[in-house]
Amino acid sequence: MEREKLDFFSDLLMEERKKVVKIIEGIDENWSKNIRDAVGNVSSYATHLADLGSDSDEREKETYMLDRELKNLKNIDNALKRINEKTYGVCNYCGEDISHQRLKAIPYAELCIGCKRNEERINNNHKQ
Ligand SMILES: [Zn+2]
Repeated sequence: MEREKLDFFSDLLMEERKKVVKIIEGIDENWSKNIRDAVGNVSSYATHLADLGSDSDEREKETYMLDRELKNLKNIDNALKRINEKTYGVCNYCGEDISHQRLKAIPYAELCIGCKRNEERINNNHKQ
């Protein structure tokens, strides 16, 4: 891929990274606030337990979100690494170029659309 296209996708990935980091920081803040609230509110053990109980759905959602965003962050960092190594935009599986259209939609895509579809088909077969 040409230098200027690598630069373009590098910028795109950096923007994406900023967004993801912001989300992760937001989740962390919520968490530390929840923990502070729980710890600061131990006047009665029963209330404390009740608080934790009502929080757990929210906590589960945040754990799921955090997990997802951390995966995104890892994908973005891997893609930035590939830009540095100039292997960016090449399918990990078949070695063909990934279409620019696809990279614009998912700048950290590691597979071309054909291989991605194959992978999804295989995954779906495993589930059945
Ligand atoms: Zn491929």
